[in-house]
Amino acid sequence: MPQTQFDCVIRGGRVATAVDEFDADVGINDGVITAIGRKLDKGATEIDAKGRLVLPGGIDAHAHIEQLSAAGIVNADTFESATVAAAHGGTTSVICFAAQHRGMNMITVVSDYMALAKKGAVIDYTFHLIIADPTDVTLNEHVPALVAQGHSTLKVFMTYDLLNVGDEKLLDILLAARQSKALVCVHAENHGMVSWMGKKLVEKGYLAPKYHTISHPRGCEAEAFNRLITFGELIDQPIMIFHVSTAEGVAAIRAARGRGLKVFAETCPQYLFMTGKDVDKPGIEGAKWMCSPPPRTEADQEAIWQGLALGDLQLISSDHAPYAFNDKGKLSAGPNPHFKQIANGMPGIESRLPVLFDAMVSKGRLGLQKFVELTATAPAKIYNLHPKKGSISIGADADIALWDPKRQVTFSDAMMHDGAGYTPYAGRTVTGWPMTVMRRGEVIVSDGKLAAKPGSGIWLPRPGGVPATPLGRLTADMDPARNFGAKLL
Ligand SMILES: [Zn+2]
Repeated sequence: MPQTQFDCVIRGGRVATAVDEFDADVGINDGVITAIGRKLDKGATEIDAKGRLVLPGGIDAHAHIEQLSAAGIVNADTFESATVAAAHGGTTSVICFAAQHRGMNMITVVSDYMALAKKGAVIDYTFHLIIADPTDVTLNEHVPALVAQGHSTLKVFMTYDLLNVGDEKLLDILLAARQSKALVCVHAENHGMVSWMGKKLVEKGYLAPKYHTISHPRGCEAEAFNRLITFGELIDQPIMIFHVSTAEGVAAIRAARGRGLKVFAETCPQYLFMTGKDVDKPGIEGAKWMCSPPPRTEADQEAIWQGLALGDLQLISSDHAPYAFNDKGKLSAGPNPHFKQIANGMPGIESRLPVLFDAMVSKGRLGLQKFVELTATAPAKIYNLHPKKGSISIGADADIALWDPKRQVTFSDAMMHDGAGYTPYAGRTVTGWPMTVMRRGEVIVSDGKLAAKPGSGIWLPRPGGVPATPLGRLTADMDPARNFGAKLL
């Protein structure tokens, strides 16, 4: 044993993982957890964790950062502002989007985006690749090359005029992903229904932000989920369904998983804590609460909690998509836009963990282990960042948040660190707050003060791993033993 055994010891806290909770010291060397035990030897640095919960840093698996929208608006965050906000909220890794738009070269998109991340990020990061122009070159050359480099999730839209790929191309993308062993994440809503409802509402003069909530009729979700699940089954390709908002959506996922299909699913705090009524504000104030899919009803919230409890949904991500409430963001079409002219999305990268901790740990819904699982361990496993990320264990990166479970904080617009300038949770008081946040053994936030430099976050390459591996269970149509010998996969 060397003389000074640890670079740092987190002493006297209560450690929690997705399965356990115990009193222990945590020893760190070279940014990695090397010991968990009682009465560890002195470290070169000591952090007093008495009265603190020692939790793995959060992983936010769905955040839009410094991303150009299809409409040509850049959202309100740089890598620096978004990851500083994430760190203040206890999140130490993020998965954001390298977004291809029509006509763009995917390789260039990724390298340009990587340069932005390298310059600004204070937490670790990895990307989902948005495919909006699935040409032969994109699918047959660029996707395999990028997946081989460690970009192992593709994201596809089934709605939005400029992003949705249509059924046939969606099948092509699922097949390309299968061949490269990438997971396919999907924004699944029925495009025709959303588009038709939007036109009808505008035509009849229903223009306020609240009409956004019914312009995405609830049925458009389960319809698209079922179509996507059917496609995934045909291609034998694992899928991740993003931001589930309805009870019928949860039921569709439960049925698919019940049949043994490799279907993963995520929800977001806005679908657990908000309803369509939150968008019903005077004037265009409701624009701040507009996201897609929209928040639904209390009954949907309950169904989603149940889906999380039963494991039908595995993750709670932020879907952070900040647009300032000015002419650069929500009001880019003028001071009095109708709902179809307003960018969709809300900030959430900083508030995600505190609002969930308050509900799950302080108020007791599903409890501490499930909180750790849904916000850190499960995203690490599904996106193949585990065991390096997502838990407090020997050999894992020392990404650790020390929570004061008694600390009460009331959210205000002014305290947030992202670029939106407002939070949907302003005025809400939560119990429990991440006081000290460490990334790879380095304190990056302490008592509300940032201690990390822009560019100190690193890219996390990741192959697809087990979650992206096909089941090997072919439908009769795809199985050469039953389809007259046609080899299609
Ligand atoms: Zn999103």
